[in-house]
Amino acid sequence: MKVYKFGGASVRTADGVRNLAHIVEGEQNLFIIVSAMGKTTNALERVFTAMQKAQKDEAHKEIAEIVEYHAAIINDLWGEPTQLDEVNALFAELRSIIDNTIYRPQDAELWYDTIVAFGELISTTIISKYLNHAGLRNRWIDMRKTFVTNPRHKDANVDIKASEPRLKAALENTGVGVFVGQGFIGSAPDGTTTTLGREGSDYSAAVVAHILEAESMSVWKDVDGVLNADPKVFKDAVKIDALNYLDTIELAYSGAQIIHPKTIKPLQNKNIPLYVRPFGDKTKPGTVIKADAEHVTLPIMIYKRDQVFLIIRSKDFSFVMEEKFAVIFSLLDRFRIKTHLINNSAVDLGLSVDASWHIDELIEALEKEDFEVEKRESVCLLTIRNCTDELYERYVASQQKLVRQINFKTVRVVLPEPTF
Ligand code: ASP
Ligand code: MG
Repeated sequence: MKVYKFGGASVRTADGVRNLAHIVEGEQNLFIIVSAMGKTTNALERVFTAMQKAQKDEAHKEIAEIVEYHAAIINDLWGEPTQLDEVNALFAELRSIIDNTIYRPQDAELWYDTIVAFGELISTTIISKYLNHAGLRNRWIDMRKTFVTNPRHKDANVDIKASEPRLKAALENTGVGVFVGQGFIGSAPDGTTTTLGREGSDYSAAVVAHILEAESMSVWKDVDGVLNADPKVFKDAVKIDALNYLDTIELAYSGAQIIHPKTIKPLQNKNIPLYVRPFGDKTKPGTVIKADAEHVTLPIMIYKRDQVFLIIRSKDFSFVMEEKFAVIFSLLDRFRIKTHLINNSAVDLGLSVDASWHIDELIEALEKEDFEVEKRESVCLLTIRNCTDELYERYVASQQKLVRQINFKTVRVVLPEPTF
């Protein structure tokens, strides 16, 4: 068995879906994981926000645009105006959630997941039907029924043990060797839909690969493979041919958008190689991520936007010590806020964290614990691994910095107003 994952950018148009069909053509033992088409997840987030603000008309307007976008893809794929009953039924269900839900703020994450999951349900329904229509026999798999997750809505983890028998059972006696399932979604033990965190489809594919002991997993992307920098931000980005699991996790943790950070562990546990391959050309090798690849020595630049920098100080000026750290980190965990850089001095703890809905609640809770908190929004975190003097001069030296950490050959800075 092989596992292929196609991201939203790869299937954002009918041409993209035809290209997917071209890539999977002739495969016999294949599990295909697909994300929502194009920017559908963002559009569904707007539907959720409208629900949150009790703006039903706005929610329906957003849904109408999502319907139109998918209808154009369907019509193009089938070559004539076409209605797919299953897709229509999904949209009807989404509309009825908007009309009939009594929203309570304490259920924000639950409704977020319920709504946002439609992106993957719709994309996989279209793609599975289209592949069958094109003669590539396959079975649509409902990942809500196969992935059991913990109840941590909006950032759930898959319970691999509980999911294994369900996934295996779903593939039995189907008479086909090709399966199409949704990335990013699962169900909590209470049956409610969960999502695995934005960009979580890579992680879904890795869990499928782990359970099915796949020979390999491939992520098809609109780049040639893993690059050493984001080419939109930094010139001269180059492709890395091979990476080991450890380097990959470090890169993902620092914010490299190559692969979701949760992806590597399920693969590493079973020693499954991960290929990052260009969607446009299936003959190109891309990048391979595997246990025995050599440590990278090339400079790697990772630029993470939308960070919030917090400076936490204990009001009584006592040192920020172990027990204080424990309080701070358990609050971060309670509010599900992800930390990407930690910088401590005797009295301060500086944290670069993801912008989250719950930052202000966190700050309030910290203040109750007698901390003072300063917040700086919209900052960027730049990490340069294997940094050279030349890169330092070019990207770091003249920038205003809130924090600078230099650790062997890794430079990490929090920049309030980067000028590149
Ligand atoms: N569709 C989800 C997102 O855009 C999951 C994914 O693409 O991996 O975040
Ligand atoms: Mg996506």
